[in-house]
Amino acid sequence: MRYLAIQKIPFRNSNDMPKQPGFTTTILHSDRLRKPEFGALHQPIHTAVTWGYENVNDLINVFQNKQKGFAYSRQGNPTVAALEQKVTQMENGRDSVAFSTGMAAISATLLALIRAGDHIIASSFLFGNTRNFFHTLMGIGIEVSFVDATKVANVVAAHQPNTKMVFVETIANPVTQIPDLVAIGDFCKTNKLLYIVDNTMTSPYLFKPINVNASLVINSLTKYIGGHGNALGGCVTDTGLFDWIGFPNIATTFRNQIAPAQQGLVQIRKLGLRDAGGTLSPEAAHSISVGAETLALRLQRTCANAQTLANYLAQHPKVERVNYPGLKSHPQHDRAATLFTGFGGLISFALKEGVDYLSVLNKLKIVIKSSNLGDTRTLAIPVAQTIFFELGPQRRAEMNIPESLIRLSTGIEDVDDLLEDFRQALE
Ligand SMILES: *Cc1c(COP(=O)(O)O)cnc(C)c1O
Repeated sequence: MRYLAIQKIPFRNSNDMPKQPGFTTTILHSDRLRKPEFGALHQPIHTAVTWGYENVNDLINVFQNKQKGFAYSRQGNPTVAALEQKVTQMENGRDSVAFSTGMAAISATLLALIRAGDHIIASSFLFGNTRNFFHTLMGIGIEVSFVDATKVANVVAAHQPNTKMVFVETIANPVTQIPDLVAIGDFCKTNKLLYIVDNTMTSPYLFKPINVNASLVINSLTKYIGGHGNALGGCVTDTGLFDWIGFPNIATTFRNQIAPAQQGLVQIRKLGLRDAGGTLSPEAAHSISVGAETLALRLQRTCANAQTLANYLAQHPKVERVNYPGLKSHPQHDRAATLFTGFGGLISFALKEGVDYLSVLNKLKIVIKSSNLGDTRTLAIPVAQTIFFELGPQRRAEMNIPESLIRLSTGIEDVDDLLEDFRQALE
């Protein structure tokens, strides 16, 4: 199948394009390199569920991973494959598998690669649903240690003989902690641990986890890559840095049939798509592909707006504190400045004791009260009462989440309109 052969597709000849096109040029011209019919500039939306062959031997070879091709859309579809190729290019990776949601990508990756009796070290500051999924894993015989990954010493201290993997996010939601991504990468390399980095908050435009030795990169395509709040999707990218030969949890059939470099992703694809069925629809893949064309433009504007808003909120007399990596007061500001090409769009802030934070939210006219993040529109949500409600007051206190914490996902509106909206709401 195509994952036996995918590599970055080169531009046809050096007259067509500069030799190493930039980030946005690469995404914009990616579909055309597969030469769609009629010279189309986009890959078509292939709605076929199944694929027919003139010669049954070709069908057999596709089934046996000996030939590129598509057999049944649960496991692979050309529109989805075009998006997988784009994410691979954005991450400078080897190959990718797309899923119906970011959570489908995360759950498939973990279920495919971890066995009962294994141990995972995970950041204690994780997206809430990912954290819940780790608790599900603990219920089926997998050990998980949650550590403050902003300091590599905590990861090192949690290491056990049965540790298989370290899992972190680039910028934690909602308090914006940033793990010691470089040192954890070095530690994983030395100890031959899978290093999984959820890059959703930064996206490959602001950060490429391959540069810190990540083995697998996860992106929720729902967020910045799709970017418009109109399609769900997720993706796992193999950076090509991990040695699958040395990994004990690859099934014997894949060990014997599949080239070593592809064994990890093939196992994730087979479990996550063939068996668990978390397949991305071609319509959603198309929406996300179109959204991805403007990822860089949107994030430049988003980061600039977020910095302006964070600066404004930080000096406001009714605001107790602001969490944003772009502020000098942020504990990992220097780390973010070194590793990322921008500080992202996520801000959280707590209001002073006695300020009615719910009425402040209700007074906002442009900013939308909504969950989700990475949208073109600015979204605000009170954290303790919604996305972190189930955790209860004690866990929230441990996670540094006060009752008045508001999470902002900054959009690309005109920044003066956003400033005016907060000014009148906080009056
Ligand atoms: C939203 C999110 C996910 C899950 O993505 P969905 O597409 O909503 O399933 C995973 N990780 C992070 C960091 C996220 O923000």
